[in-house]
Amino acid sequence: MTPDTVSDNRLSVFPTFQKVAGRRVVVAGGGEEAAAKVRLLSETSAKIVVVAETPGPALLRAAEKAGAEIVRESFRAEHVKGAALVFAASGEEARDRAVVEAGRAEGIPSNAVDRPELCDFYVGALVNRAPVAVAITSTGVGPVLARHIRARIEAMLPRETGELARLAESFRETVSRVLKDGISRRRFWAKFFSGPVSDNVQSGRIDAARAEAQRLLNGEQDGRGFVWLVGAGPGAEDLLTLRAQRVLQEADVIVHDALVPEAVVSMGRRDAARISVGKRKGAHSASQDEINALLVREASAGRRVVRLKAGDPLVFGRAGEELAVLRKAGIGCGVVPGVTAAVAAAASAQIPLTLRGVASQLVFATGHDRDEETLPAWIDLALKGSTVAVYMGRSVAARVSARLIGAGLAAGTPVAVVENASRADETVFAGTLDELRHLESHKDVDGPVLILIGDAVGHGALQGALPLAPCTSSNSAYAA
Ligand code: SAH
Repeated sequence: MTPDTVSDNRLSVFPTFQKVAGRRVVVAGGGEEAAAKVRLLSETSAKIVVVAETPGPALLRAAEKAGAEIVRESFRAEHVKGAALVFAASGEEARDRAVVEAGRAEGIPSNAVDRPELCDFYVGALVNRAPVAVAITSTGVGPVLARHIRARIEAMLPRETGELARLAESFRETVSRVLKDGISRRRFWAKFFSGPVSDNVQSGRIDAARAEAQRLLNGEQDGRGFVWLVGAGPGAEDLLTLRAQRVLQEADVIVHDALVPEAVVSMGRRDAARISVGKRKGAHSASQDEINALLVREASAGRRVVRLKAGDPLVFGRAGEELAVLRKAGIGCGVVPGVTAAVAAAASAQIPLTLRGVASQLVFATGHDRDEETLPAWIDLALKGSTVAVYMGRSVAARVSARLIGAGLAAGTPVAVVENASRADETVFAGTLDELRHLESHKDVDGPVLILIGDAVGHGALQGALPLAPCTSSNSAYAA
């Protein structure tokens, strides 16, 4: 392959989108390559014509599905007459060359599969959200890379993007008539594509979306803010959900905890206001009342607010209080779930949180409660064979350990402690319930930690974990 790249930042190709609706597009060849092209072309409303003397089974299937015409003849130049595009996909160089030359003689852009040197144009990896299309090319350098990028764009673009585009199209004329100046038109479309109109389309409520769009056009939309409580997950950016990404990109204001990494916060729109409300050692942090007031104030001013919280917002996230205040103020709100720390920590150490015959309950517990009292009701559950995930447990680890042993849980019960679960600086410690009392003596542990206690923990992949007990020699966690 001879990629047509040049060494500077300029492309050797110019991306365009060829009109093919109702026009002949000729595919010459009978094998798998031809079938693949037919499948790709069937994403369009082109009139597909396959020229193949002996079409193979894959091609026959693809052609039937695409409603393509099959010409069972050996290729002749006249087959390409009047075509918009020509594809040579015979798998044989001489035949492909003849097809491309026939196309060129008619002035038709031609392409030969896997033969860049014969191509007038390349076919991009396609993301189809008709009428919206994204095509990616690596100009022949790395088709696998292009497909990889395509997969990411597929994930980013909701299925309903096309629906939203069609709805926009149906409003275009009215918008130009009603909103005379460019600035208000731009403002209208910005809101159209990011606010309740888009929300409703994504949830399949096209009529509601249309009504919202009409309201927006009548100027009734302003003043109605919204708050999303969004789970940012344990820290790794790729553990953010697609929905979290979408609402982040649509937010006017992002209110986040210190525990949410910068990389996640920065996924918001560049011009969104970002407000850190702290909650990390020593640093100034806003009180919960101040945060509640901030959310109400921003939403009341008509802004779309994302309240970004570590893990899942509904797990030790004080979401209940924020939602209650918002509801009382009559502000629309919603929750986007996130990967909670217990689940991320278990994944890191491959610990089954439930395990047949070993643990059939899972407890999310906190070491800190409002009145600073630790481990209240969940001791019983721990004794009954649950896996217990302890949040905010570092400074009370010794008390957790002593009280569980005091209540009758075996001192040798397996324990894992995961610091910075899912992040680049993640550390896993393993040991026994008795050894958990040493956690605080590990002075270098200063990230968030999640403690997992229970017999199921012993079934994790903890060979490489650091020992919980103070390090004397190279004693491995509890392989012994
Ligand atoms: N809503 C969050 C929990 C907030 S409470 C969630 O669902 O995960 C804060 C506690 O969460 C921390 O003290 C720690 O116990 C835990 N935590 C959050 N992120 C963590 C991470 N990446 N690794 C380990 N523990 C984490």
